[in-house]
Amino acid sequence: MKPLIDLCRPCIWRLEPYSSARDEYSGHQATVFLDANENPYNHPLNRYPDPMQTEVKAVLAQRKGVAPENIFLGNGSDEAIDLAYRCFAEPGVDNVVAIEPTYGMYKVCADINNVEYRPVLLDDHFRLDADKLLAATDEHTKIVWLCSPTTPTGNDLAEHQIWQVLQRFQGLVVVDEAYVDFSSRRSFRYRLGEFHNLIVLQTFSKAWGSAAIRLGMAFASADVIRIFNKVKYPYNVNALTQREALRLMGDALKPACWVAELLDERQRLMERLTELPLCLQVYPTDANFFLARVTDAQRIYDLLVAQGIIVRNRTRVRLCAGCLRITIGTPDENDRLIAALKEMKL
Ligand SMILES: *Cc1c(COP(=O)(O)O)cnc(C)c1O
Repeated sequence: MKPLIDLCRPCIWRLEPYSSARDEYSGHQATVFLDANENPYNHPLNRYPDPMQTEVKAVLAQRKGVAPENIFLGNGSDEAIDLAYRCFAEPGVDNVVAIEPTYGMYKVCADINNVEYRPVLLDDHFRLDADKLLAATDEHTKIVWLCSPTTPTGNDLAEHQIWQVLQRFQGLVVVDEAYVDFSSRRSFRYRLGEFHNLIVLQTFSKAWGSAAIRLGMAFASADVIRIFNKVKYPYNVNALTQREALRLMGDALKPACWVAELLDERQRLMERLTELPLCLQVYPTDANFFLARVTDAQRIYDLLVAQGIIVRNRTRVRLCAGCLRITIGTPDENDRLIAALKEMKL
């Protein structure tokens, strides 16, 4: 890996971050807060939240087996995606390389930040070829975007290919693990010590069932996390979200139960779908959704919408012609989907 000073945008490396009132005192038992121009009434929401989410990170560190200084928390993992650009990719100069197809926000954030985005197509089985991906990088490539399990296809990328990228690329490698809780693959967050250029993204939005609270995690070297913390909004994770995250993590079994049920349902739904004449192919998945190739994706999508059932039409995504992406719902929701598909007059 190149030294971080060469990967970081010069303006960010030099940046003197905003110092909030709550940053400036620490360690003392304070009871009178006259430092932040808050209203003394309407407790507890009158107070600014902990800018560094110390308590949430302490619990998360235990759960995830990662030190607190290796954790960044943001307003969804989408915040970490945008921050990666703003910290490391100089607009109009640097570029990033990503697998294709994948999560749409990598490209949207590249466009917003005026950073060249270089997509590298997966193969027909949605597999990553590290050689091909690395061939698209040059001295201005700051970030490689990997996602595993990836979307819209649902499959894990081969661990060995990810390893190759981490080993050989001189810039930062993001492994987005939004769906890793549904996969049998071990998280790459355990390998932060091995790869200083690794950034792992996870989220409370999927297996944790908490998309509404907007809480995403990035695991990376302490040096990368410090740069993220310099650039983020001072109070980027609000107090209600921090409180809810602590409550959620108090009940460790719940997400595991949801995941187990969703994996059973996934099996059942995929089997039912395979039996239908309109279904041409169901692709293997390691996530809480799967991709199905159907006879007429647009028409089937429209007919489902007419019945109030929404799936994702991915027919215009490269390598996904004719495909719908179907999220696993409750048994009842899945039954309604199957019933609607069965009765469909095409
Ligand atoms: C859902 C998803 C996310 C999560 O985004 P949040 O902002 O944390 O809700 C990140 N990456 C991928 C690939 C996703 O599908």
